[in-house]
Amino acid sequence: MLFGPAGIPIASNGGTLEGVRTVAELGLGAMEVEFVHGVHMGAAQASAIGAEAKRLHISLSCHAPYWINCCALEKTKLVRSVRNLVDTAKAAHLLGARIIVFHPGFYMGRPSAVCKVLVRETMSKALEQMHALGINDVILGMELMGKGSQFGSLEEIIELGAELPQTAPVVDFAHCHARGNGVIKGEADYAMIFNKLEAASGSKFLRSFHSHFSEIEYTDKGERRHLELGTTNEPPLQPLLKLCAEQGYDGTIICETPLLEQDAMKMQRLYLSLKK
Ligand SMILES: [Zn+2]
Repeated sequence: MLFGPAGIPIASNGGTLEGVRTVAELGLGAMEVEFVHGVHMGAAQASAIGAEAKRLHISLSCHAPYWINCCALEKTKLVRSVRNLVDTAKAAHLLGARIIVFHPGFYMGRPSAVCKVLVRETMSKALEQMHALGINDVILGMELMGKGSQFGSLEEIIELGAELPQTAPVVDFAHCHARGNGVIKGEADYAMIFNKLEAASGSKFLRSFHSHFSEIEYTDKGERRHLELGTTNEPPLQPLLKLCAEQGYDGTIICETPLLEQDAMKMQRLYLSLKK
């Protein structure tokens, strides 16, 4: 299992390259490169960072811009969403990142099935353009979203992930908990999530899954904000790591708490202690 921060570590003084080095120095194994406010990274820079990450054995992933909406009402926004996905994929390709995580979209009062058709179409268009550019090694990762108004329930991302090749569900355990109004209580609840993933995507998927974790504050409308580990213990971290250790699940857990690398190291230490 690999653990790492969502973005450049707080303790790092520089940009993404320095961030990768800090992650390696701390003994972590992963880092998510945040393009949430746009893809502002040149090709040469991305290649250099990718080479350094490879040298230091740091597994990179990317987070695509927040404004992507794959089921937007306006055609212009759909076109822009395809472009943003492809731009992120281009950078990811040069970085050697395996997956780009993105927020699928908003229902805007429409049923799930209507949005699903649009999301699938937008993703297919992005994949087409990626293939035309020779990008066959970057997975489109649909994030599980934390609010009921957002397309991206566990079931929706699992279904789409099984239907479209080169795509995968990205479980954000905090979002899952908030969306379900506090649904994750213990190991059995995590087991149910992993069983659903396995049923749709196969056992191989559980050897290379990508996910996000933090504690979270929520209301009946869902997510409010991500919290440090040990604030509320919601959702609980220990049973997740225990299940992964016991079942031999393997993948990446990106830490999205405000403490980033500090909490990522806590997660890693706890996981290693449970694995013994
Ligand atoms: Zn996200």
